[in-house]
Amino acid sequence: MKTRHLVIVLGDQLDLDASAFDGFDPAQDRVWMAEVAEESTHVPSSKPRIALFLSAMRHFAQAASERHGPVDYTRLDDAGNAGTLAGELRRAIARHQPAGLVMTAPGDWRVLQALRAVADACGLPLDIRDDRHFFSTVREFAEHAKGRKQLRLEYWYRALRQKHRILMEGDAPAGGQWNYDADNREAFGKAGPVDLPAPVRHAPDAVTREVLALVETRFASHPGRLDRFDWPVTRAQALGALEDFIAHRLPLFGRYEDALWAGEPWLYHSLLSAAMNLKLLHPREVVQAAEAAWRAGHAPLAAVEGFIRQILGWREYVRGIYWTQMPSYLDRNALDAHEPLPEFFWTGDTDMACLRDALTQTLTHGYAHHIQRLMVTGLYLLLLGVRPQEAHQWYLSVYVDAVEWVELPNTLGMSQYGDGGLMASKPYIASGKYIQRMGNFCKGCRYDPGESTGPTACPYTTLYWDFLMRHETMLAGNPRMGMQVRNLARLTTDKREAIREQARHLRRKA
Ligand SMILES: Cc1cc2nc3c(=O)[nH]c(=O)nc-3n(C[C@H](O)[C@H](O)[C@H](O)COP(=O)(O)OP(=O)(O)OC[C@H]3O[C@@H](n4cnc5c(N)ncnc54)[C@H](O)[C@@H]3O)c2cc1C
Ligand code: SF4
Repeated sequence: MKTRHLVIVLGDQLDLDASAFDGFDPAQDRVWMAEVAEESTHVPSSKPRIALFLSAMRHFAQAASERHGPVDYTRLDDAGNAGTLAGELRRAIARHQPAGLVMTAPGDWRVLQALRAVADACGLPLDIRDDRHFFSTVREFAEHAKGRKQLRLEYWYRALRQKHRILMEGDAPAGGQWNYDADNREAFGKAGPVDLPAPVRHAPDAVTREVLALVETRFASHPGRLDRFDWPVTRAQALGALEDFIAHRLPLFGRYEDALWAGEPWLYHSLLSAAMNLKLLHPREVVQAAEAAWRAGHAPLAAVEGFIRQILGWREYVRGIYWTQMPSYLDRNALDAHEPLPEFFWTGDTDMACLRDALTQTLTHGYAHHIQRLMVTGLYLLLLGVRPQEAHQWYLSVYVDAVEWVELPNTLGMSQYGDGGLMASKPYIASGKYIQRMGNFCKGCRYDPGESTGPTACPYTTLYWDFLMRHETMLAGNPRMGMQVRNLARLTTDKREAIREQARHLRRKA
């Protein structure tokens, strides 16, 4: 019998109940999946990231074949693998001669264009269905954004809370406030974290071990390492990771959301982004589990609201930004930044203690928590004046949770201010003193966060003042930056020149 639909499943669409499977008939339809080198090389994907995608795809194909019949699956090392999604899809079309193609909306604009082009070239209809893995649709976001000069998270988040009845008491927000940030975001204090709960491990099984060996040989020159790989690669493991977070880390999530601590990569974070982005976990079940923990008295409201805001708020918001702004968003560079990415971002080889820790952990685990990404690695690139597109490529390469719809707005918009304030109301800039306040790195560093010039000056502090001077006119027009800009008046002409010279030196060194 001829194939009715070839159902396309991408590496970040690993949900047996995805819209692509609506009306699936194993007698007429066929699931198609392919591992292709292009998805690991269009940016130099890190070894942990490649391994997570491939292992999760292989586990999912097994589950899909049990539910939906045989899966047409191409492995990376299969003979004749075309190396691109488009090339592999063409080969699958030739094998099955389907009457049409069906898929859930992909997360990447680039992938959507490539698959559309194949469908057009083959004269096949491509049925693209809404991704039910989000609380909102891109259409709803576009409607919300219509006529607004600036897009801000808060109103979008509140609308979603009301619509989906999350943390609500009647028409009012639970506890009477929409936002509990004031109760959150503490540092650990001198003693540091006490009895940090170690996250549950997911030891590699035979499928994962085979993938790890493949990645180690095939992508030997790619960044990162695999000897600590323990990410959840199945839905069952992802549910275990959720349970572990809710039981052990959620209660202190909000309080230490912004804290940093040397040698402690996880703190009280959930580590659920990769599982959600691959669609092993539904954000709704994550949000519901967190709300239930509050209602059961297991976690305080401030922690739960802070956590839910990240998922129902930020995650939905950045997706809306991505799909309403692409493809021109990719090229934006509002600060006219043109420095190259420092080479040590690929190795971690730097004498800046905070940056070395964040980079080493990133390359070891494919993970850094939000404040490390925003206020350690991202801040350094922003202050140095690195081209946002190079920053984007790095973030898309190294993190296990990196998928363009969420990575790009966070990097180019929130972290690098490349969109000129569409996403963030001001550039997230700070001197080394912020990093000193939020953690314990500076004590063990050869630099001094209080110094902006001289041999022990903290590079963040030098570059912070240099950034303020370089962008003084633009920043002076931003009411949220007023105090920082006014502080420039404290600098003498000589000091300004010394800072500029030291910043030039840092750029040459990078
Ligand atoms: C420069 C930069 C790049 C980033 N790149 C990515 C990326 O490629 N993929 C990614 O999923 N997140 C990205 N983020 C957002 C955030 O840093 C990660 O989601 C988070 O660190 C993942 O760790 P976690 O699961 O322990 O998160 P938690 O701190 O436990 O937060 C809970 C969940 O909230 C969601 N979330 C939190 N912050 C954001 C945010 N700003 N945008 C969207 N969702 C958010 C995530 O799904 C996360 O799992 C980036 C942030 C920055 C500043
Ligand atoms: S002194 Fe500067 S570079 Fe060193 S750890 Fe502190 S903030 Fe980082």
